[in-house]
Amino acid sequence: MTPFTAYCACEAHGPLVPKLFERRALRPDDVSIAIAYCGVCHSDAHQVHNDWNNAVYPCVPGHEIVGHVTAVGPEVTRYKVGDRVAVGCLVDSCQQCEPCSQGQEQHCQQGPTPTYNGRDRVTGETTYGGYCDHIVVREKFVLRVPDALELESASPLLCAGITVWTPMREHGVGRGSKVAVVGLGGLGHLGVKLAVALGAEVTVITTSAAKADDARSLGAHRVLLSTDQKAMMAAANGFDFILDTIPTRHNVNPYLMLLGRRGALVVVGAIDLLEPVHGGLLIRNNRTLAGSLIGGLAATQELLDFCAEHEVLPRCELIDIRDINTAFARMQANDVKYRFVIDMATLQHVQATP
Ligand SMILES: [Zn+2]
Ligand SMILES: [Zn+2]
Repeated sequence: MTPFTAYCACEAHGPLVPKLFERRALRPDDVSIAIAYCGVCHSDAHQVHNDWNNAVYPCVPGHEIVGHVTAVGPEVTRYKVGDRVAVGCLVDSCQQCEPCSQGQEQHCQQGPTPTYNGRDRVTGETTYGGYCDHIVVREKFVLRVPDALELESASPLLCAGITVWTPMREHGVGRGSKVAVVGLGGLGHLGVKLAVALGAEVTVITTSAAKADDARSLGAHRVLLSTDQKAMMAAANGFDFILDTIPTRHNVNPYLMLLGRRGALVVVGAIDLLEPVHGGLLIRNNRTLAGSLIGGLAATQELLDFCAEHEVLPRCELIDIRDINTAFARMQANDVKYRFVIDMATLQHVQATP
């Protein structure tokens, strides 16, 4: 066992405080990773606040992890000490079921093991995430960060990035696709950048005219104000794919209306009730209303490689880990462009207690 310092919540709604934990000794197929940066995801705040009634305390959040390999077990073949690597939302799955064998570990029929707030499949111990200096992960669940990808801003690709990448790939977004992105936060800003890099014509749909310049600076070709009824009517039937990143309960009907023949609207942000959906809007144009959950390991590696090749990087605000509680409050007030990333070097200034 190796001791480590992590920021954790000891109870629902409690602040994040530094405490000492222990990581397991390396199993034969394990990789030990020194964490350089970890992104701050909305899920981290939801788990700390127990919004989904499944949190286990103490809870060490963090599932947008990048760093370097510091040790490997004897059966590890793909990584060596010093390699640039990443870990996303999952650290294990059954590896036997159909989704697992098709590279969709996020849909493992036995339930995948989440990076934090999960149970280790061997020992049953709680899994602890990336708000700390190191993590031990089964080789299969470790991803390679290409040299061309800057480590400092790559971490949000591991959750926000793959969340928007998977549905765009599944729905064939590419050159000439007419794509709309609803909402311009951590997910939405990456949706815009990735859709543009895939060759799509991209429109940002927002309630706030103030976001128009931001949307264009991210590469969006057009901005549509959802409060402008006339403009919304004029845009009806015009899109092939709509990425809906709104994080709370909302009304999808005005967006469904914008889909052309066989177009799809994919919900990725709202783990919540939606307003009633009008069947007529679905029937017309054979529209699809769908959802999507993160992505498998192969798709995540594909995303990291794509971002390195096309120079797509999340926009981040780097923070000191001692400011994590302020960052949570700011994130919940939508005061971040577009993702907080913890500089884990700042953990060296922290004194933890057992
Ligand atoms: Zn996340
Ligand atoms: Zn499985």
